[in-house]
Amino acid sequence: MLIEWPTKYDRSYLPTPDSRYWNQELETMDPEEREKKVILPKLQAQLEYAYEKLPFYKKKWEKAGIRPDDIRSLEDFEQIPFVVKDEIRRDQMEVPPFGSNLGVSRKDLARVHGTSGTTGKPTAFGVGKGDMERIAEAHAKTMWSFGVREEDTMFIGSFFSLYWGSWGALAGCERLGATAFPFGAGVAGQSDRSLEWMKEVKPTIFYGTPSYSLYLAEKAKAKGLNPSKDFGFRILFFSGEPGAGVPSTKRRIEETYGGICIDTGSTAEMTPWMSSCECEYRQGMHLWQDLVYAELVDPKTKKRVPYGEEGVTVYTHLERTSQPMIRFWAGDISIWVDDPCPCGRTYPRLPKGIYGRADDMFVVRGENVYASAIEDVIRGIRGFGDEFRIIITREKIMDELNVQAEPTPDVDPAHVPELKVKLEGRLKTQGLRTNVQMLDPGTLERTEFKAKRVIDKRNLYEEISEQSGSFLNAPTAHPEERSDEGSQE
Ligand SMILES: [Zn+2]
Repeated sequence: MLIEWPTKYDRSYLPTPDSRYWNQELETMDPEEREKKVILPKLQAQLEYAYEKLPFYKKKWEKAGIRPDDIRSLEDFEQIPFVVKDEIRRDQMEVPPFGSNLGVSRKDLARVHGTSGTTGKPTAFGVGKGDMERIAEAHAKTMWSFGVREEDTMFIGSFFSLYWGSWGALAGCERLGATAFPFGAGVAGQSDRSLEWMKEVKPTIFYGTPSYSLYLAEKAKAKGLNPSKDFGFRILFFSGEPGAGVPSTKRRIEETYGGICIDTGSTAEMTPWMSSCECEYRQGMHLWQDLVYAELVDPKTKKRVPYGEEGVTVYTHLERTSQPMIRFWAGDISIWVDDPCPCGRTYPRLPKGIYGRADDMFVVRGENVYASAIEDVIRGIRGFGDEFRIIITREKIMDELNVQAEPTPDVDPAHVPELKVKLEGRLKTQGLRTNVQMLDPGTLERTEFKAKRVIDKRNLYEEISEQSGSFLNAPTAHPEERSDEGSQE
């Protein structure tokens, strides 16, 4: 099948409002047929493009002894080596600012985005003009799948900054012809003002993070407002945090606002494309495999796992010319299924959303932090014992990084405060603001597992406790690193 690549879309196209699908044929196609007729040809074109135009991939694949024409099936594709976040960072240091996979001239660059870079060097995202069009198309058709229509007004309650999520929602909203209400977030007093505006304007769609929506609801209730009666949201969709896929959180949001709660989002490197999202039936996120090809792989064997099993997410852009990610190891853990969804779409789904991490990474104030990096610093200072804990909490809306460590038994107690200062100072030079708490030698339980040394009390990956009552401490401060993030003041 001959395909046009990169895909060109008709900006004036819209389905009729009562149509469930944006493109019925593609969305309901037999999955094998779609793989053969659409996904594989797009993938091959994307590989060809990357090999010809992007030194980053040419070098990488030559080293692995692979050429794009070796890839004749999706099974062959599994020979392509993964791309990890660190590689991108290193490449951008060698070829600043965008690295050797930009692919478009500066003149053809529509946008520069990036991570906030409070730890280490920020990652720069360059997005070409053609890609911007395709991003809008992807957002529009996936938003259509959960019910957004032209007559809707979309409140976008997240940062308009280097963070992508808000801009993607805006691009999709405009492409779909709905009314955008790009309120933003993060400015002092903005939450209070947003409540007034919501009451007046009555937007029908909400976009932000789950925790921010619940934070706003708390504020509204404190002012005597009833979010389900005074606002009138029909659909609330989220990214940036896994909460919207957690049943108890979903229930809480739906009961609070009276609209349906939709989980969306993958990871920052992929995110300008919305390619993972729930449909109106909320049976887990559909993976729109013809936009971004997602694989779930076994973290040990690195092989694709069958449907019904758990694996680590790996993503590949299929229509991106600027900084495409090809087999990007996102490192999130999920389970995927291919049983029928009442909506009739035949894309596989993540019935439990994203619910964990495959490595020792966690996100604090929007930055990726590795427990092993903190471990290195602790172990590099004489006088510290081997055991430590990292405890992440939220004070109001800011993430706090707390480190508990022990001196070795031979350290004079009078010198312990010095150790604390030393550790905080060393971590600071790594860009990490921490509170170090010194415990008596032998206080911490010994563990072999790095993961157990990290205690995330923000409950991002857990059921949000029904008893916790207040969500005042919920929103992430600067969640650039995840797909999809959010907002707060
Ligand atoms: Zn569905």
